[in-house]
Amino acid sequence: MKGLIMDYPLTTNTILEYGNSVFHKKKIITYLPNGTRHEYSFGDMYKRCKQLANALTHKLGITKGDMVGTFAWNHGPHIELYYGISGIGAICHTINIRLSAQQTEYIINNSEDKVIFVDATLVPLLEKIAPLFETVECFVLLNAPKDFVTTLPNTLHYEDLLADQSEDFDWPVIDEKDACGMCYTSGTTGLPKGVLYSHRSTFLHATTIVAPNAGNASSRDTFLLIVPQFHVMAWGYPYMCLLSGSKMVLPSSNLKPETLIKILTEEKVTKANGVPSIWLGIYEAMKKNPPKEKLALEEYLVGGSALPMSLIENFEKDFGIKGIHAWGMTETSPLGTLCRLQPNHDNLSYKEKLKIRAKQGVAFPGVELRIITDDGNRAPHDGKTMGELQIKGAWTVSSYFKTNNHESFTKDGWFKTGDVSTIDEDGYMQITDRTKDLIKSGGEWISSVALESALVSHPKIKEAAVVAIPDKKWVERPLALLVFTTPQDKPSNEELISFLAKDFAKYQIPTDYVEIDEVPKTSVGKFDKKEIRRLYAAGKLTMAL
Ligand code: AMP
Repeated sequence: MKGLIMDYPLTTNTILEYGNSVFHKKKIITYLPNGTRHEYSFGDMYKRCKQLANALTHKLGITKGDMVGTFAWNHGPHIELYYGISGIGAICHTINIRLSAQQTEYIINNSEDKVIFVDATLVPLLEKIAPLFETVECFVLLNAPKDFVTTLPNTLHYEDLLADQSEDFDWPVIDEKDACGMCYTSGTTGLPKGVLYSHRSTFLHATTIVAPNAGNASSRDTFLLIVPQFHVMAWGYPYMCLLSGSKMVLPSSNLKPETLIKILTEEKVTKANGVPSIWLGIYEAMKKNPPKEKLALEEYLVGGSALPMSLIENFEKDFGIKGIHAWGMTETSPLGTLCRLQPNHDNLSYKEKLKIRAKQGVAFPGVELRIITDDGNRAPHDGKTMGELQIKGAWTVSSYFKTNNHESFTKDGWFKTGDVSTIDEDGYMQITDRTKDLIKSGGEWISSVALESALVSHPKIKEAAVVAIPDKKWVERPLALLVFTTPQDKPSNEELISFLAKDFAKYQIPTDYVEIDEVPKTSVGKFDKKEIRRLYAAGKLTMAL
């Protein structure tokens, strides 16, 4: 028997309408790329979303199911794009600005973006590859001065696009299972893969992360969204803040630790998110130059890479600010687990509590986790048995965009994360390793396989193995082990860097190279990366070039 409850659509329009009707006076503050501060209200933003919906429909000819790209920092207009694009049933495809030119070109052609909204300061990155775009009909410039000059074809200014548009727009009926947003993950081997979020998954993720056990967001909070909007929709915070009525502060490209501290201070930010390297930078800058008054910041949420226990401890002891650890993936919208202590931990010592807080945490309601060991069995929740972490849930990917590769999914419908972890008896998950042959540096992925094949294409290199090594600032950096064809005639460090610069973004290129006689191999002849990491940790690999 079916329940007798209305079929109410769980869409991004429902979030926007709610935010406007209950919290229209709440503010959105942007620190623009040129450093100026812009302030407006949820209500103002709402009206501009409707103007945008009119412009997309009547001026740009965008219809349901069309893909619309954004190539932008975190700011008010980018929030308008989230709601305006998905509000008419089109798909807001946020493009990662940090990828290599080749990956960006691939992503734009693969997604079939019809229009791209691009920040003026980021235009040079697209100008180089724009002639290769197969489906883009026009570019809309964000935050660009009137006299802005570009070689991009068919450009319009965002403010001109909105200027003469009506603030009335009737949202179309949208099926909550339709797509509303897309992000590509480069956290896989091979080409980036698109993850298509639905209205329903976005709504459920947002309503879940508002809760005190999760994002802990209320209308008394001011959130600083440091996680880029092109990283899994800033972890869903632009949706969460409209539901909780939390003031939003958006830093755009103002990401230097000192600038972020200034913003945290001036805006009296209470909560914020970011990858570990951002918070390590903020901690070190505060330590060097302690703020005159205690910050209003109560807690900062860290994900993307592991939150070091030492950072939780230092930040709390020195400045009374709590680090909250979370885990997720582009494929999981992204939040999968979050770590907060529970009353049954109250009697533990500070050190024991820290050990738990450094874990990635418990699953959200609507998410299930399991660990599968090497022999294919489900691991017990004993906090010790390791295996591959698998996930399913209301906001977990069911298939990648335009691919029918099934290796990432099990026959019984779980998504294979490529992370190795344990789960303890209270359900706290802890990542211990990764099966993916990738390096995560400052929150961005680097493919070791891609670097290896580029390096061996160098005429003087016979074998190349790339592994992740720990780095204080970036969490991980790539280290390249090289066997030279003729050891007496080897390329210099600088030569290798400029050789790789043709195909890789700057942050993806190793600065550390080690010459070896032979790459350690497993019994089946594969590079033994565990052994390489062990040798490095034992100090047996020295930077030789
Ligand atoms: P992405 O799709 O780029 O967000 O990357 C997701 C991957 O980042 C996960 O599968 C993990 O390998 C890694 N990751 C995310 N959060 C954490 C965390 N808290 N601790 C360790 N690794 C993490």
